[in-house]
Amino acid sequence: AKDQEQASLIMSLEHLEHLQLDFWRRPMKFDLSMDIRVPRGSLQAFKAFLESNSVHYSVMIQDLQVCALRLVTSASNATNKLMPMCITYPSTLTCNFQCVFYISQIYYWMDEMVADYPNLVTKQQIGSSTEYQPLYVLKFSTGGASRPAIWIDSGIHAREWVSPASAIWMAKKMASEYGSDFAITSLLNKMDVFMEIVVNPDGYLYTHSRNRMWRKTRSKVSGSSCVGVDANRNFDAGFGGPGTSGNPCLETYRGTHAHSEPEVQAIVNFVLEHRNIKSFITIHSYSQLLMFPYGYKCSPPTSYYELAAIASSAVADLSSLYGTRYRTGTICDTIYQASGGSIDWTYDMGIQYSFAFELRDTGYHGFLLPPEQIIPTAQETWLAMTYIMDYVQARS
Ligand SMILES: [Zn+2]
Repeated sequence: AKDQEQASLIMSLEHLEHLQLDFWRRPMKFDLSMDIRVPRGSLQAFKAFLESNSVHYSVMIQDLQVCALRLVTSASNATNKLMPMCITYPSTLTCNFQCVFYISQIYYWMDEMVADYPNLVTKQQIGSSTEYQPLYVLKFSTGGASRPAIWIDSGIHAREWVSPASAIWMAKKMASEYGSDFAITSLLNKMDVFMEIVVNPDGYLYTHSRNRMWRKTRSKVSGSSCVGVDANRNFDAGFGGPGTSGNPCLETYRGTHAHSEPEVQAIVNFVLEHRNIKSFITIHSYSQLLMFPYGYKCSPPTSYYELAAIASSAVADLSSLYGTRYRTGTICDTIYQASGGSIDWTYDMGIQYSFAFELRDTGYHGFLLPPEQIIPTAQETWLAMTYIMDYVQARS
């Protein structure tokens, strides 16, 4: 969109439910593209709309289904050849992080982590999802009471597969290199790390079983045939404000009230019970952004300059590995005003170092990032993560 008027015009199409447009990326900043998935049946009407309003557009992915099938097939072939167990059990070595795990595999992998690193890693259930799947947090700790801690979560939006995949790689890196890697060792000698690898297991399961493009939770909405809430619009931070919808059939449906989702309530309870959390980092995809509060309002947070400096240095480290370019800023400045997000809530609760990553890419593959990019994505993200953790540790 070239200006605010055009952006609003395109966004208004979201409310025409019969078109079934799926907004993958909806920045209101005019140097970033909007990415929209258009079902075949709506294509002609949508193109006509764009052309009659002089909106410049191009096709990034001609046929998403072909693309998705290719990915799933290549991933399962590769792992089948190496070791059929990867389909049932996710030994991280058998697929070398190049495949995306099913939820059952991730649960199994967590138990492996606890068994393999008993002096470092413990697993704690912090709640249950709407469909009664356990919500687990892995705790990395070398001992000590109420040390400063860092929270990392991934997979709050189901279709953003590279988010939990990268977090799994990072968890393994931390556990296996404690005692040999200087940065990891000194960090874990002073801090604890909590990781919730799959915040939204119901949605994640659904992306494997039914709809690869599912984003929300899977809770029932009374009085509607549509299912699910956008968990990252469900926190009590400007709840119900701009960038959210009251329509249960839309992707940004905020829910009936703040913390209505058990997946969100579990995080809220955990944060309230762990006042030692100094930094809260949530991992999404895609767009290559490192953002900080606020999203629900566009005024800068009190520590704006400090957060901006941390984010700039963190993405400089990230880019040093493969040259991947990131942008930084508040959520409102970077993408658009969006209310009810997790890092706004944690920031207002006093967790000053609250950040949100949007990992690779910038839309060429979008949510269907090829599995061979998982490791490079995780490696570069780890550098930014390390910068933030070191910074926080030095000031805790
Ligand atoms: Zn997301």
